[in-house]
Amino acid sequence: MPSVVSNETRARTFYIETFGCQMNAHDSEKVIGTLQHQGYTRIETEEDADLILYNTCSIRDKAEQKVFNRLNDYKKLYKQGKRFGVLGCVAQQEGEKIFERAPYVSLVAGSASYRKLPEMLAQLERGEQRITGLDDRQTEETFETEFTARSNPHRGYITIIEGCDKFCAYCVVPFTRGKERSRASTSVLAEARRMADAGYTEIQLLGQNVNSYRDLEGKKTFAELLAAVGEIPGIRRVRFTTSHPRDFTQDIVHAIDSVPTLCDHVHLPVQSGSSRVLHMMQREYTRDWYLERIGWIKSAKRPISMTTDVIVGFPGETPADFEETVDLLGEVQYDGVFAFKYSPRPNTPAITMADSIPDMEKSARLQVLLDRQREIQRGNYSKHIGEKIEVMVEGHNTARGQVIGRTSQNKTLNFTTKQPILPATGNYLKVRVTNSFPNSLVGEAV
Ligand code: SF4
Repeated sequence: MPSVVSNETRARTFYIETFGCQMNAHDSEKVIGTLQHQGYTRIETEEDADLILYNTCSIRDKAEQKVFNRLNDYKKLYKQGKRFGVLGCVAQQEGEKIFERAPYVSLVAGSASYRKLPEMLAQLERGEQRITGLDDRQTEETFETEFTARSNPHRGYITIIEGCDKFCAYCVVPFTRGKERSRASTSVLAEARRMADAGYTEIQLLGQNVNSYRDLEGKKTFAELLAAVGEIPGIRRVRFTTSHPRDFTQDIVHAIDSVPTLCDHVHLPVQSGSSRVLHMMQREYTRDWYLERIGWIKSAKRPISMTTDVIVGFPGETPADFEETVDLLGEVQYDGVFAFKYSPRPNTPAITMADSIPDMEKSARLQVLLDRQREIQRGNYSKHIGEKIEVMVEGHNTARGQVIGRTSQNKTLNFTTKQPILPATGNYLKVRVTNSFPNSLVGEAV
C-alpha cells in the first residue's frame, strides 16, 4: 500500500480544497498550519500533490455532491501513489461509509478531531488505510493550535465557540460539529493580541452561534469579549458571525455603540418571517420576538447594517407563510439576504417531514424574494451617496483602475484615487461615495 513518503530530498506535498462556510475556511487555515509544521509543503494542484484533502460542507445536498464529484474526478491519481483525505462536515456525517463509496480515500476526519492530525498523518506515512477521526456529539474538544496559516495578512478569523445545541429542524450542524463548546476568554484574547502584534488590524470572531459563547473561565460575556478584543491596541475592526436570535442580547448593541472598533454590522439569520414556519423549523422564537431584537439594533446610536439568512420552501410553508417572509424584508430593510431553497438533510428532524414544496415552486419563491430584496438594497445603498466613509483596502481592479475597499458595515466600495500609486491592501482611507448599486458602492478617495 502506497504511503505518503517521497524520496528523501523532496518534502511531502499536499493540496487542500475548502468547501462551505467561514468556519471551514478557518479550520483549513489551522489544518494547513499543522501540516506545514509537520514538514509538508502546500501546492496548488491535485496532480502534483502527495496528499489531497477536501474540507467539506454538507449544509445542502449540492455541497455534499460536489465532494464526491471531485473525488471521482481525481480517483485516477490514486494509482500514482496519491492519498486522499476527506475532512469536515461530510466526513463526520458519512464517516466510514465514505470508504465504501470511495475506496481510494485513506483518511476521514471530522472537525472535532483535527487536534489528532499529527497522529493521523503519521498513520498515513506508515501506509495505513481507512484512518478515521470521528467524534461523537459529546466531545469537549476544540481545535486550538498555534499553527494557523492565515490566508490574509490584514484580517483574520478567531473561532471562539464550536458546535451547536440548537437543533433547527433542517440543519446538520449539531450532528457534524458536535455540541456547543466555547474557548476560554484568556486564550481568545491571547490569540487576538498575537494577531495585533503580527500586524492584523481586523479580527472576525467565529462560531456557528457566536453569541451563544459561554466563557469556560466564566470571566466574560460575549459582549464583554467583543469589547475586550476591540480595545486591543492596533485592532481597528472587530466583526462577529453567525449570531442566533435566541442568544442575541441588548448588551451586544450597547457594546457596538460604545466601542468604535466594533463594526456596525450584525448578521442575524431569521430563516422565515412566519411564526408558524419558525415553529416547524424549531427555531424557538416568533416573528415578533425576532423583530424586538431588530428594534434594539435599530435604536442604537450608530446606524448598524443588518443582514440575514432565509430558507424558502420549508416543508408545509404555505403561500401566506412565504408572503410573511417577503413582508418581513420590507419591515426590517436588510442590507443583504443569503437565501436558499430548503434541501432535505440526513439525520435532521425535518428529514421525516414530506418535502412538500415542488422544486419549481421553491425556485419561484426564491426569485420573488431575491427581487424584493434587490429593490430594498438599491434604496439602502443609494442613501450612502455623498457620504465620506472609511474603507480597508482589500484589492485592486486594475482593468478598471479601481481600488476595492470594504466599509465597517461590510459593504464593498470600489473607488478611484488621484494618487499616482494605488493604496496597498490593508490600508485604511476615506472615500466619498459618488454612486451606488444594489450590492456595492462607488466612490473617489478624499
Ligand atoms: S443554529 Fe440552527 S441553523 Fe444554525 S448551526 Fe445550529 S442547528 Fe444549524
